This record gives sequence, structure tokens and C-alpha cells, in this order.
Amino acid sequence: MGHVITLPGIFMCGAGINRKKIKIKGEAVSPLNLIIKKRDGRELMPDEIERIVSGFNRGLIPDYQMTAFLMAVYYRGLTPGELTAYTKALVASGRTLNWNYLSGMVADKHSSGGVGDKTTLVVAPLMAASGIYMPKMSGRGLGFTGGTIDKLESIPGFNTELSLSKMQSQVERIGLAVVSQTAELTPADGRIYALRDVTATVDSIPLIAGSIMSKKIAGGASCIVLDVKVGSGAFMRSLTDAAALAETMVSLGQAFGRRVKALITDMDQPLGRAIGNSLEIEEAVSTLQGEGPDDLKELALALGTHLLCDAENNDDAEAARSRLRHLLDSGDAYEKFLQMVEAQGGDPRSLEKGLEPARFQREIRAGQMGYLQKFDALHIGRAAALLGSGRQRKGDTPDRSAGIYLHAQSGDKVEEGMPLMTLYTDREERIAAALEEVHRAVRIATDPVPPRPLIHDTVS
Ligand code: URA
Repeated sequence: MGHVITLPGIFMCGAGINRKKIKIKGEAVSPLNLIIKKRDGRELMPDEIERIVSGFNRGLIPDYQMTAFLMAVYYRGLTPGELTAYTKALVASGRTLNWNYLSGMVADKHSSGGVGDKTTLVVAPLMAASGIYMPKMSGRGLGFTGGTIDKLESIPGFNTELSLSKMQSQVERIGLAVVSQTAELTPADGRIYALRDVTATVDSIPLIAGSIMSKKIAGGASCIVLDVKVGSGAFMRSLTDAAALAETMVSLGQAFGRRVKALITDMDQPLGRAIGNSLEIEEAVSTLQGEGPDDLKELALALGTHLLCDAENNDDAEAARSRLRHLLDSGDAYEKFLQMVEAQGGDPRSLEKGLEPARFQREIRAGQMGYLQKFDALHIGRAAALLGSGRQRKGDTPDRSAGIYLHAQSGDKVEEGMPLMTLYTDREERIAAALEEVHRAVRIATDPVPPRPLIHDTVS
């Protein structure tokens, strides 16, 4: 007779294993057979995919079988038909928004996330000022990447947790709202993402594409622009992977009848000069007032131009861009931002006065002369997070005023002793921890450095 060995944390007994069948078109199917089919590289039918997703969402398929399915997808990928069915099932797991009753077009934007990326704060009011409705659901920062919701919460009183009906009435009234992602939309994605996060199945292109696009489809916008970041501070480290993700998401959105474009943009260095919640709000405000750093302004205008052309169904990009430029210079886009701040309980006067600064500051100076090759996004992001702007663990509350302000940009001539950046924090002891990352971030070359491209490609 053999022995049964039980390892701590591993539970294996006949009664605990799911051998239940799920019904497909009235016929009982075992999830195990569907996992085997995927594992062996055979294509699943749309209703088979639907049953896996809804079975997991309703608790009929346990975590261990879903994990095996996700790992099979990780290695085998999904065909376009499977991916559409997977995304449809994620969308069907929750509520969907319908904006058909509005008089104008509804647009949405998504960034795959990075360091210093505050474009939503500029693009959303800019589109609203141009007459396009912009209901935007955003996320919080995790690790070294920032999140729009954390940034907005650095404005005193700003409420990001609106109910769907409150968000809808605000969008009807002023044309925009930026709120926290709600579990009412695509709850199956939330459950699957939590499982992927702990089972090494996050970085799968079809799973990322399905996850992101299901939320965009459920959000109900007809025009969507995607900003797929590539570089050291992004999910995608190579142009090949970024292009594959962008193409997959664009095709997927189009399969749902949406107008979708994607820009592949640089995240080897931070976007703009400010990294950290309130510092980024201030930089977005100055961009909305027609100032701000060139790269942020350029990216906001490029993303906005695609949305405006798609929403108005015209290809005169030059005219669309100059209209948006005018909305920044005239202050109309900033006025929309102030309306949103007020509607969501924030104090617009705090923006005029300037948000509360961090208690401690430390200037970092160049140790040699040369040309600034780059501030590496990954190390700057980590340093800012260590100063308090990010979360070390889920559930942490980031400091509003912590972060980094960059005084130079790639290609600039640097003299020894010149200020390169200022670190901000409310806890002085955090500066020492951030310094190692800061030193790793700075790359100074002896020869002039060509400007880095901001937009690598457009996928439409
Ligand atoms: N962001 C998402 O919403 N989902 C993913 O799978 C990855 C990034």
C-alpha cells in the first residue's frame, strides 16, 4: 500500500478535486476536457470559452482549474475567435454602459502605464472641451508606475469613487468624469486578474488584451485610443511585443465595432518632468494652460487628434490638431478640468494656490559634464516610489507630495554641478533609500545624444 504524503499548503484528496461538469448547449462538459483541449493546442469553441469564464466567475470552476487553463493560454495563445469569445465573456460578466442617448460621440483612452504618465489628466478635459464626451475609468498606481486615481486624490476633497449613475449624470452635464474602476463592470476580469497576478500569467498578450479591451468595451465608448508604452518603465520592454499587443487590442476592439487606434510610445524615460502625485497634477495643470513640457503636450495632442478625427469621422488631422492646440492655449481645456474638479468635490482654489509641498527636498547635481543620454524610467519610477509616491504593498496609501522633478531632458548639455533633479518627500529617511536608484537612473554621455523618438508607431 502506498503512503499519502501531505505537504503544508497543498491539499489533494479525491473529495477536494472538481470533477463536476458544466453545461454547454444543454450538454454536460468537463472543465478538465476543455483544459486538455487548450493544452494540446486545439481551438476552443466560443461557447466553451464562455462557459470557462462564466463558470469561474460563478464559483463553479475552482482556482486550480482556472490556473491550469490560464497557463495553457499563456503557452498556446488564443486564436482571434477565441480571444473575441474570451473578451465577450468578460464583458458579459457585469454591467455595460450605453451612451446612445447622448447627443455627441463618446471616447475613451487607455495607457498601458508608465512613469510620469499624466496624459489622461490632459486628454480627458481636452476632448470634453472639443465637444466629445469622455467618461474615463482609471486605475491606481502599483509598484513603480503611477495611477491617475492616486494623482487626482492629491487634490483636496476630490472624490474618485462615484457610483455609475453619478458618473453618468456628471458626464451628461459637463462632458467628463474620471473615476475609479468599478467592480460592477467586468467582475470576471477582476477575479481572473487576481489569479493571474499570483500564478505568473500576467504577461500574456491575449490575456492582457482581453483584460484591457473588455473594460473599454463595457465602458461603452465608440472611439478608443490606446497608448501602448515600450521601454524600461513599461510592461512591454521590446518594440516587437508592444506592436503585437497594440495590434491585438486594435483588432479586438474593431471586432466589437469600435473605432480603435493605438500609439506605441516611449517609456525608456519618464514622460514630462514631474513624477509623483501632486507634482504631476501641477504639470498637467500647466499643460492645460498651454504651457508644460513639450513631450507631454505632444503626446496629449497626438492622442487627442486621433480621437477627434475618429469621433468626427474625418481625416483632417492637421485641422483637428490645431483645434485642440487652440483649446489648450485659450484655457478652455483647463476650464473643463476645473469643472470636473468642482463636480467631484475637489477644491479648485487649491490648484490656483499650489498644492501642499513636501516637507523635505534634496537637489541632485551632475557629477560630470557631458550630454544627458536619459533618466532611466525604471530607476526614476522606483526612486519616486521609495520617496513615498507609490505603493510598496497593495493597500498602502501613497504620499501626495512625494516624487521627483527633473530639471533636464534627454540630449541636454550638462555641466558639472548643474542641478539634475529635486527629490521630494515627507519622510527625510526615505531620501537615502532612493539615492541608489537615482544614481542608477542618470546616464551622461561624453558625445552629443540624438533626440529620442516619443512616438514609435501608430496602429490602426
Ligand atoms: N492592465 C489590465 O487592465 N489588465 C492586464 O492584464 C494588464 C494590465
